[in-house]
Amino acid sequence: MSALRTIVILGGGTSGWLAAAVLSHHLKGSNTQLRLIEAEDVSTIGIGESTVPPFVGLIKSLGINEQEFIAATNASYKLGIEFLDWGNKQQRYFHPFGVIGSRIENQDFYQCWLKARQTGHAAALENYSPCQVMAQNGRFWLPSHAQNTPIGGANYALHVDATLAAQYLKKFACARGLQHSFGKVQQVNRSANGFISDLILHNGEQIAGDFFIDCSGFNSVLTANALGVEFNDWSQYLPCDRAIVARTTTTGPTAPYTQARAREAGWSWRIPLQNRVGRGYVYSSQFCSDTQARATLLKHVDAPLIDEPRLLQFTTGHRCEFWRHNCLALGLAGGFIEPLEATAIHLIARGIDAFLQFLPDRHCHPSLSKHYNRRMIQDYEEVRDFILLHYVTSQRLDTAFWRHCQTLPVPNSLQERIELFLAQGLISEQHEQLFRSSSWQSVFEGMGIKPQNYSPRVDSLDAQVLTQNLAKAEAAILAMVKTLPSHDEFLRRKNG
Ligand SMILES: Cc1cc2nc3c(=O)[nH]c(=O)nc-3n(C[C@H](O)[C@H](O)[C@H](O)COP(=O)(O)OP(=O)(O)OC[C@H]3O[C@@H](n4cnc5c(N)ncnc54)[C@H](O)[C@@H]3O)c2cc1C
Repeated sequence: MSALRTIVILGGGTSGWLAAAVLSHHLKGSNTQLRLIEAEDVSTIGIGESTVPPFVGLIKSLGINEQEFIAATNASYKLGIEFLDWGNKQQRYFHPFGVIGSRIENQDFYQCWLKARQTGHAAALENYSPCQVMAQNGRFWLPSHAQNTPIGGANYALHVDATLAAQYLKKFACARGLQHSFGKVQQVNRSANGFISDLILHNGEQIAGDFFIDCSGFNSVLTANALGVEFNDWSQYLPCDRAIVARTTTTGPTAPYTQARAREAGWSWRIPLQNRVGRGYVYSSQFCSDTQARATLLKHVDAPLIDEPRLLQFTTGHRCEFWRHNCLALGLAGGFIEPLEATAIHLIARGIDAFLQFLPDRHCHPSLSKHYNRRMIQDYEEVRDFILLHYVTSQRLDTAFWRHCQTLPVPNSLQERIELFLAQGLISEQHEQLFRSSSWQSVFEGMGIKPQNYSPRVDSLDAQVLTQNLAKAEAAILAMVKTLPSHDEFLRRKNG
């Protein structure tokens, strides 16, 4: 075996420091030295505040104390996303984490609910989601401390300050032996076999490595520029390509969820942290100028700005290979899908996890990168399809942007999902998918897409038993949620 002697991580944003933290934890005790290089004069994107539940699991798996991390990053809890004005103006729905309902006489809850709804004996689907009921009432409790109760099936993620999170992970990785230095890459040298041999920095320093992780953001210094890996552009599916972002002071209670409101040419977010609120308007430059976008963002801001709004541009899609030769692209260097479901940090974490599974030696056998790339492309496609679902199912026709969304092409993978759902409300769940059936059901339902039928299997259930079970479940969740502390109160207790 010729184990990797040095892994060089290029970039000190969320992807660089997350990779540094996870690798320094898992490779501790091995002979592999980790180095991270970042350019002092190329700033990080400094955004990426909303996460999904596996992020909490990742933090814990590193042995990080969750409360300490929450305090250090001014984090708040996230129970899901509230969608406003998506299906049509004035419509609201919630995409919750965790379960929606539980099986009734061993039958799938959603199918039971579909049957009951046909006879008018069911409440809204989201009333059976502990996360949605907590969110709507502004309450929070850790589901792990409420096992075997009506809210035991809830789940949560965090809203974090991206810069503070990177700083936390930096301290974590450096304490485990990672070498950190500043320097801007000016030249990338390659061996005869195409592998990257070393990086030359602006100050002339040479950084050699057996393996390189490209976390250089949209610059994609190693993957795009040095190795010339092509980009698979998905702009035809997802038309938003810009965002204007701002931070405001806090007003009112800290909502335990992200808000995503559809706007004239895209959508805007509201992400509450403990000490401030992150805002942004994601839009398509084909349908909205930067000046209009800025005006739209500012018009809806209900608290004083902390700093000037910033404009960001992006192209949706991914590098055709995330791993080529001895170089792996993570984060924005590998691709980006607009942040509607807050999936980017998750995709970074998936990339690091898969890298550890396929950890190469110095020869980097091509079958490792082949399988890695296949897996990552599947993950990106899943996220693309899920986000696209929010646009193609909208019935809004009030602006040119929304009329354009009616004409977006639908990839076969999504078309098949929609057809299966329409037929009998079924979702084909694949192994390791981020978005489980309840996520798809929530969005379909929220967007007003109804299945033609339910599965005949639930016909064996007595209608009265069904109705009683549903009424009991709804009441039990609400009754318990009313006993919980408010989100702010919960944060105060934990901080205290
Ligand atoms: C509008 C918007 C909203 C988003 N919202 C979310 C969200 O809610 N949730 C979520 O999960 N994700 C979100 N993301 C994505 C998230 O911001 C990124 O995935 C995350 O911050 C990772 O960025 P990064 O580390 O890859 O790149 P960056 O933060 O850009 O870091 C790049 C690093 O590379 C270094 N570098 C660049 N060039 C060189 C060079 N030549 N030499 C040396 N170093 C160099 C820089 O100094 C920097 O340290 C959002 C993104 C956008 C655009």
